[in-house]
Amino acid sequence: MESQDMIDLCKKHTMYTWTAGENVEPIPVERAEGVYFYTPEGKRFLDFNSQLMSVNIGHSHPRVIEAMHQQLQQVAYVYPGTATAVRARVAKMLSELVPGDINTFFFTLSGAESNENAIKAARSYTGRFKILSRYRSYHGATNATMQLTGDPRRWANEPGSPGFIKVMDPRPYHYSFGESEEEQTARNLEYLEEVIMYEGPDTIAAMFVETITGTNGIQPPPKGYLKGLKALLEKYGILMVCDEVMCGFGRTGKMFGFEHYDVVPDIVTMAKGLTSSYAPLGAMGVSDAIAEHFKKNTFWGGLTYNSHCLALSAAEASIQVMLDEKLVENAARLESVMREEMDRLKERHPSFKEGRALGLFGMIDVQKNSVGERIAPFNGSHPAMTKLGQFFRDNGLFTFVRWGSFMCNPPLCITEEQLREGFAIIDRGMEITDAAFE
Ligand code: PLP
Repeated sequence: MESQDMIDLCKKHTMYTWTAGENVEPIPVERAEGVYFYTPEGKRFLDFNSQLMSVNIGHSHPRVIEAMHQQLQQVAYVYPGTATAVRARVAKMLSELVPGDINTFFFTLSGAESNENAIKAARSYTGRFKILSRYRSYHGATNATMQLTGDPRRWANEPGSPGFIKVMDPRPYHYSFGESEEEQTARNLEYLEEVIMYEGPDTIAAMFVETITGTNGIQPPPKGYLKGLKALLEKYGILMVCDEVMCGFGRTGKMFGFEHYDVVPDIVTMAKGLTSSYAPLGAMGVSDAIAEHFKKNTFWGGLTYNSHCLALSAAEASIQVMLDEKLVENAARLESVMREEMDRLKERHPSFKEGRALGLFGMIDVQKNSVGERIAPFNGSHPAMTKLGQFFRDNGLFTFVRWGSFMCNPPLCITEEQLREGFAIIDRGMEITDAAFE
């Protein structure tokens, strides 16, 4: 099918996510390989966002295709109440990969569904109902996970149901808890303790955090925050849920984000990099104590496609590729190249505000003027950012430009040369935001 037919039929007969149908301008995609994907006419895109920060091992890996093929020939699907070899193998593999006492997994279809189940599990385990989460966060687009989400994407879903309490991050957008990272951590945790006291500790089941904030800034937590948070929550019997949907599976240069901070949550949720998006699969991992609770108590939940064999075969092969090809190590190694490229951009472009990178999890903030004003999420989009997005697209760089920032999250198999190729396009593109500098 030619590009225009693809676009016309998709727009006519399908609904798109997050955008009004008439504003959608889909890229027509015919095939993908490694860090590139191609239109039917052969235009090549460098995938600088791993699609939705999810194709961690890169596109069309033959070992994953072969494993899925073999699984399909054996059995594609049986209902979630069965036992299968692929389910057993992936669960065992994860129990060895995830640090600490997280050894039991519930397989879902997505990040949002993993978080939905984490809400249920936390409520059942603690007998409490309130859930804390943070404003600078995204946890999914289902009903309850929209209520966990703090950023403006939740507005259209409001009013939600009672019991979802939002708190400030240690790094809010305009407000500061302090100059140094230590001060930000200490002040934020004091503030959080006061919120907990006002809400009534005995009513709070869990707090959800993105271990490393993803779409809302690719922000690693300040020093000591996650450890301090875990201790504070433990003091009041509140569970810590780390949402590793985006930052898990090697993205940050370690297999899981929380491995950077010497902390293990009570529940971890994952998806995206779990199968590198070769099939839809998420998981909720729970501590031994929570797993013990569900040996005696029913987990009231389950969808037709939970623990889907085909998706599990994709997870098994994709994780094995990640380990065999040392892709987590590659992400850690290339962090310095990403930082070096960001430093170079900072020198050359007045509109460059700040770049952050942890492994191959990177983001660049654009500033509007010399006083460093950014384009805040609650101020909508800026015409210069729209033009920048169009430039990237015209020049074969695929990434997300949202609010006042854009992403640098290529597949973990990217080479240094390919990474620099992406930054060369960004370098040219930022002349657009420089020209709009006030
Ligand atoms: N949690 C985080 C941190 C995410 O980034 C996302 C998706 O971007 C989700 C949850 C939701 O995952 P899914 O889109 O698979 O439901």
